[in-house]
Amino acid sequence: MADLETFRTETHQWLDANAPASIRGVGNTLLDGNWGGRKARYPNPDMKVWLDVMAARGWTAPEWPTQYGGGGLSKDEAKVLQQEMNALRLPAPLIGFGLTMIGPTLLQYGTEEQKHEHLPGIIKGEIRWCQGYSEPGSGSDLASLKTRAILEGDHYVINGQKVWTSFANLADWMFMLVRTDPEAKKQEGITFLLVDMQSPGVETRPIKLISGASPFCETFLTDVHAPARNVIFEVNKGWTVAKSLLNHERNMIASAFGTTAGKGRTMRDWAKEHLGLAGDRVADSAIRDRMAQYEMDSRAFRLTTERARDAAKAGRPPGPESSMFKIYGTELNQRRLELLVSIAGPHALGWEGPGFEDVELTLTRDWLRSRGNTIEGGTSEIQLNIIAKRVLGLPD
Ligand SMILES: Cc1cc2nc3c(=O)[nH]c(=O)nc-3n(C[C@H](O)[C@H](O)[C@H](O)COP(=O)(O)OP(=O)(O)OC[C@H]3O[C@@H](n4cnc5c(N)ncnc54)[C@H](O)[C@@H]3O)c2cc1C
Repeated sequence: MADLETFRTETHQWLDANAPASIRGVGNTLLDGNWGGRKARYPNPDMKVWLDVMAARGWTAPEWPTQYGGGGLSKDEAKVLQQEMNALRLPAPLIGFGLTMIGPTLLQYGTEEQKHEHLPGIIKGEIRWCQGYSEPGSGSDLASLKTRAILEGDHYVINGQKVWTSFANLADWMFMLVRTDPEAKKQEGITFLLVDMQSPGVETRPIKLISGASPFCETFLTDVHAPARNVIFEVNKGWTVAKSLLNHERNMIASAFGTTAGKGRTMRDWAKEHLGLAGDRVADSAIRDRMAQYEMDSRAFRLTTERARDAAKAGRPPGPESSMFKIYGTELNQRRLELLVSIAGPHALGWEGPGFEDVELTLTRDWLRSRGNTIEGGTSEIQLNIIAKRVLGLPD
């Protein structure tokens, strides 16, 4: 324990000395976090400085092994690091599907060569990844996917279409599912493959939403060549890898809830600002009750997910139980954002223009974005099916 306290003191000092002042208290959500990659732009160059100093210590991936560039921290040390970053109001230096999805999957299923090839680029924030799972007609029924990959010599030739590929237009690499055996039972003819987005034949078309934003793409693959050594695990065994990655994805989506209201404000600061205090309590009693309930539920959930993470550290990677976390965590996140919107009232309903602070405009977008939480990574109905079948063992 003394060692952990020494680690805390040293970490605090190091963070305080190395984190540029201008990044303290900046946003840290899916929308305004740093995704890295070759196409990353840094309106605030200090964000890149922050990424580089943290990556040099492996602290963008604190618990990954040092031989691939990770921090090699124990679970307790990583927790202390996060606590000290919170205390100094420091954003994550890097977010994205490399850290949360393909990285953990490579650690579990990749060869040594594949780990050495891909993990350092993720840790340094040099390579941004996207997920090529869904296809037109193959969302919930993912195993029906049709994108075809045919082995020709030492490479696969891929033809097909993916859809809802988040940020494919900004990504450097894609992890994808392809059909390699059309004759086999649908789950048994799928392979998990890594594709460089710069390969000839890859085309991304952003899908414009009513808001004007384009967070998703259609991704077209026409005679795209990918080396056979980019297959993860075994040919036609991609469904096993795909499910494992989905468990990581669901845990990541589930843990995206929080108690902050952007720019380092707590929910209480937010309520104080918009509703005022009566004595030392939030003035509106109905909101106060909802805040207290949210606080209790989110703390209980945080402790439960921490227990599950301990189990994962003890050598049990996340299983179908992650579907329970996905349902609860996404509903919690939607509740948090609805609560923040209720607190801010009309201030949370702006889209642009004067009269709204940046943090309010971000909230409106975060709130709308959270509606997708119960769809992405598999809808809530699909999670309920998984829980019924694979956790509770109920008959079809
Ligand atoms: C914000 C966001 C980001 C995404 N990012 C990506 C990405 O980066 N990469 C990627 O590959 N995909 C991505 N997706 C796609 C996502 O995985 C699919 O939208 C999701 O799996 C649902 O598939 P679908 O849209 O085809 O809906 P459908 O499968 O057509 O489902 C329609 C409705 O039917 C219900 N339903 C379907 N089957 C059943 C069943 N068996 N039992 C009960 N109800 C059922 C569903 O719950 C849903 O309500 C993203 C989606 C969102 C919203």
